[in-house]
Amino acid sequence: MLNVHQYSLLSLSLSLSLTTLALFLLVSAQEDHQQDTPIARFQRYLRINTAHPNPDYSPAISFLKLQAQSIQLQARTIEFTPGKPVLLLTWPGSNPSLPSIILNSHLDSVPAEPSKWVHPPFSAVRSPDGKIFARGAQDDKCIGVQYLEAIRNLKAKNFVPTRTVHVSYVPDEEIGGVDGAAKFVASKLFQELRVGFALDEGQASPGDEFRVFYADRSPWSLVIKAEGTPGHGSRMYDNTAMENLMKSFEVISRFRDSRFDVVKAGEAANSEVISVNPVYVKAGIPYPNGFVMNVQPSEAEAGFDVRMTPTADPDLMRRIIAEEWAPAWRNMTYKITEKGPLRDYTGRPLVTPTNDSNPWWSVFKQAITAVGGKLAKPEILASTTDARYLRQLGIPALGFSPMTNTPILLHDHNEFLKDTVYLKGIEVYESIISSLSSFEEASH
Ligand SMILES: [Zn+2]
Repeated sequence: MLNVHQYSLLSLSLSLSLTTLALFLLVSAQEDHQQDTPIARFQRYLRINTAHPNPDYSPAISFLKLQAQSIQLQARTIEFTPGKPVLLLTWPGSNPSLPSIILNSHLDSVPAEPSKWVHPPFSAVRSPDGKIFARGAQDDKCIGVQYLEAIRNLKAKNFVPTRTVHVSYVPDEEIGGVDGAAKFVASKLFQELRVGFALDEGQASPGDEFRVFYADRSPWSLVIKAEGTPGHGSRMYDNTAMENLMKSFEVISRFRDSRFDVVKAGEAANSEVISVNPVYVKAGIPYPNGFVMNVQPSEAEAGFDVRMTPTADPDLMRRIIAEEWAPAWRNMTYKITEKGPLRDYTGRPLVTPTNDSNPWWSVFKQAITAVGGKLAKPEILASTTDARYLRQLGIPALGFSPMTNTPILLHDHNEFLKDTVYLKGIEVYESIISSLSSFEEASH
C-alpha cells in the first residue's frame, strides 16, 4: 500500500510527465503548422480544402499569393467566372522578347471519403516514414508548391531567367476546366503572355523512371436511346426498346473487346486505343419496391464513357455510332457530348512532339538527366488534363509530375506523397526551369 506521501509523490511525477507529454505534442504540432520549410509549406497548401463540389478557392489563392510575395513574384488574380479565380505569377526574364514558359497546375481536387482514410484527407499528416497524406498530395498540389520552391531556390542562387517564367493556378480542372483553363487560354491576357512552352500535371511512377505525357485522350459522353413497341412481358415479338438496346450492347462490346484485346496482347498501351465503357442503364417502369415485371417498356437508355485517342478520326467514330451502335433503322437516337477539343486550331491532333523536331523536348530531357533522373518512354495520358487547352493553341505542352517509386493514388483513398520524393521533385524543377528559361534558340 502507498502511504499518503508516496501517493502524492507518484501523482506529482505522473502529472509532470503528462505535462511533458502535452508540451511535446504541442511543440510537434506547432512544428508541423508553423515551421517555414518546403515540407511545412506543402502541408499548409494541402490543408486548404479545395475539393468539389464546393471548392474554397479564396484561401488557396491567399496562401499562394503570400508565397509569391515572399519570393518577389508578380501576382495577378483574374476571375473569368465569378468565384472561380485564376492566379497568375510572373518572374520576368532578362529578354522579354523571347516567348515565355508557363508552369500550370489546378487549384481544385476531387472529393474524399474521410471514413476510408487512415488520416483525415485535409490534415496533411506526415507519417513517421515520411508519407504526407492528403487529397491533392499527388493531384496536383505537389507541383503547385514545387514550382514555387524551385523558383525560391533559383532566386537564392541569384539565377536570372532569360525568358519570362509564368506560373498559373486554375480552378475547376476536375470538372472539365470550362470555367478555368479553357477561359484563361482564350483570354487576351493569355495571348499577351506569348507562351512558347508549357508544363502541366502528369502522374506518379511506381518505378524509378519519371513519366512524361505528350497527349491526352479526349472524353466523349455518349447517351443512346431505344424506343420500341411496349407489350406484355410474356410475349416474344420484334423491335422492343430493350431488345434494340441489347443489340447495341452486343455491337459495342465487340468494339470494346477488339481494342482491349490489343492492349491485353501488349501491342498498345491502354491510352493508345479508343476505349468505351458503359456507365449507366436506365429502363423499366418503376413500381413501389422495384419495377413492373410483366411489361416490356417502350423506352430504354444507356450511357457510355468513350475516350478518343489524339489521332482517332472523329468523323469515323461518329459514323460507327450512327450506323452500328445506335442506328435510326432500329428506332434509336444518340447524343455525343465532346468534352474538350480533339484538334488544334490548325486541325492537327493535340500531340506535343517528343523528338528532335521539338527543341523544347531536348532541353527538357537534358534537364532531367542533369539531376540524375531517368525518363520513361513518353506516353499518352489515359485521362484528360488542362494541357489539351494549351495544345489546342499549338503550344507544346508536356504533362509531368516528378514522382518516382510512388504508387498511383490520384483520386484514390489515402493519397500520399513521400517527403523525399517531394523534395527531389523540387530539385528536378530547378533544373527544368533554369534550363528552359535560359534556352534561347526556339522562337516558338
Ligand atoms: Zn489533376
